Amino acid sequence: MIAGFENVAVVGAGTMGNGIAHVFAQYGYNVKLVDTSEAALERGLHTISTNLDRQIKKGTLQESQKQDILGRIQTFTRLEEACAGSQLVVEAATENVDIKLRIFEELAKITAPETILATNTSSIPITQIASVTGRSTHVIGMHFMNPVPIMKLVEVIKGYDTTDSVLQVILQISKDLEKEPVVVNDYPGFIANRILMPMINEAAYALYEGIATREAIDTVMKLGMNHPMGPLTLADFIGLDVCLSILRVLYQGFGNPKYAPCPLLVNLVLAGHLGRKTGKGFYDYQ
Ligand code: NAD
Repeated sequence: MIAGFENVAVVGAGTMGNGIAHVFAQYGYNVKLVDTSEAALERGLHTISTNLDRQIKKGTLQESQKQDILGRIQTFTRLEEACAGSQLVVEAATENVDIKLRIFEELAKITAPETILATNTSSIPITQIASVTGRSTHVIGMHFMNPVPIMKLVEVIKGYDTTDSVLQVILQISKDLEKEPVVVNDYPGFIANRILMPMINEAAYALYEGIATREAIDTVMKLGMNHPMGPLTLADFIGLDVCLSILRVLYQGFGNPKYAPCPLLVNLVLAGHLGRKTGKGFYDYQ
């Protein structure tokens, strides 16, 4: 644990928020997990418990540590109660600009001026989020990967005004969580999605243009490039709506037609075929 940053609030208890809470609690931080939905908090705690059991089974965690870790996580439905005494807030709420701006406006009012306000956003500019806080020096991107307890990378994104001392603290905390932080400047898609999403989009174009079947496209990238999963399978896993919205951020942010979303991807999203979560995307999971 990094001295002076023992109390961490995590905003949002969904896929990413519960993983982030899990990792901070595992490394000794006191975590206040807040979500507007009671059901999401219950689901989040259940997921953390199941994932801890998995770590115990694999032998990476002792049975006796489980209760201590869970004991370090408190849940809240009100932002103020959860965040007021925290030295670091990591926001992992729904990927929606209006929601995030409202949260950060409130965070700026209810936290101490030196509190670091981090966001796990995949695509919203850190500089835009920071602009509503009146203390953009203390706002930074802390982009964990899914599933958080397993994936080593943290993409650390410096907003336009983020100070070097805030950056250094976040790098130190990331290493303390046994993650590998990588520093990136704040431009559309950062690095991870700027490179990943055009690859997924190109795979969708290859399918759309009838160049190969979905299985052939995925096999080429799996066996030819040693990717653990083909791009179309990966897109279904991420969610086609998420892929489309990140591509639109790239397209609008750079104004470059090379990022134009493939019409097939757009159609799948319009039809409600969003990938694994709806049972159908590029592949059928029913
Ligand atoms: P999710 O939909 O699983 O969870 C979002 C949670 O935020 C929900 O439980 C919702 O109730 C809660 N929420 C909404 N408004 C809130 C508010 N005002 N206060 C508190 N909680 C609120 O989403 P997710 O996949 O966990 O994504 C969260 C963030 O992480 C997004 O910014 C997303 O871009 C980013 N991200 C996601 C992934 C991924 O693979 N899912 C990977 C990296 C980053």
